[in-house]
Amino acid sequence: MTPDHGPLLYEGKAKRVFASAEADQVLVEFKNDATAFNAQKKAQLVDKGRLNCQISARLFELLEQHNVPTHYCGLVADTWMQVQRVEIIPLEVVLRNVATGSLCRQTPIAEGTALDPALFDLYYKDDALGDPLLTEARVQLLGVVKADHLSAIEQLARRVNEILCPFFNAIDLQLIDFKLEFGVTSGGELLLADEISPDTCRLWDRRRTDANDRILDKDRFRKDLGGVMEAYGEVLKRVQSQCPIPRNCL
Ligand code: UDP
Repeated sequence: MTPDHGPLLYEGKAKRVFASAEADQVLVEFKNDATAFNAQKKAQLVDKGRLNCQISARLFELLEQHNVPTHYCGLVADTWMQVQRVEIIPLEVVLRNVATGSLCRQTPIAEGTALDPALFDLYYKDDALGDPLLTEARVQLLGVVKADHLSAIEQLARRVNEILCPFFNAIDLQLIDFKLEFGVTSGGELLLADEISPDTCRLWDRRRTDANDRILDKDRFRKDLGGVMEAYGEVLKRVQSQCPIPRNCL
């Protein structure tokens, strides 16, 4: 079902953003397009949009219940959510509990090393530049975020990690790392935005020990492991068992 929506405002790799009847809110449609390695690898994954939308909605609600300010207003259809209109800060905010991925490609830190406290990494959100890793001084130099917002972003990202880790643990999933994006409303309020889904989190199944079998996230697509949508479906099934009814805007 496609809800009533205004003109297309923005189209990204995984989502489209449309105007809504409310001036300070927009409608986000989650697409089935999958991309990896800075969009060098592309595919259509049937049902990905619905799975990511439904998982994100429930995780945003969980975070709201724990007083994390998010852009989420409610679901309006299987693949659509209504959110507060924000200007996205062009930073990819990554929290890592276990070393893997780019951290292990770029440093000698061994795959699987536990990171406590979690490692907070910032990347510049720019496809043409390949989303480079930033230092705090470079963030200041770029001027993409106010100093008080940057410290709030780190606090919120760590808070999100503290909420999500036990939540996922309870459903036998280990949160390895994840990426967040933040935005600012016209009134200057900082909100958690974008999505939280197996496209943006690494989640390992605690019920499996095999290093590939346990992967329930986009690494299945990146590494050609197959069963990508089955894995996302399993994540939704377990998330749903804890958060059955998402808020509905209809
Ligand atoms: N991530 C993301 N979008 C990106 C880059 C990374 O959602 O453009 C997520 C990724 O899924 C993982 C975390 O951020 O959960 C850390 O990714 P990493 O830096 O290890 O990059 P990768 O190994 O995926 O290149």
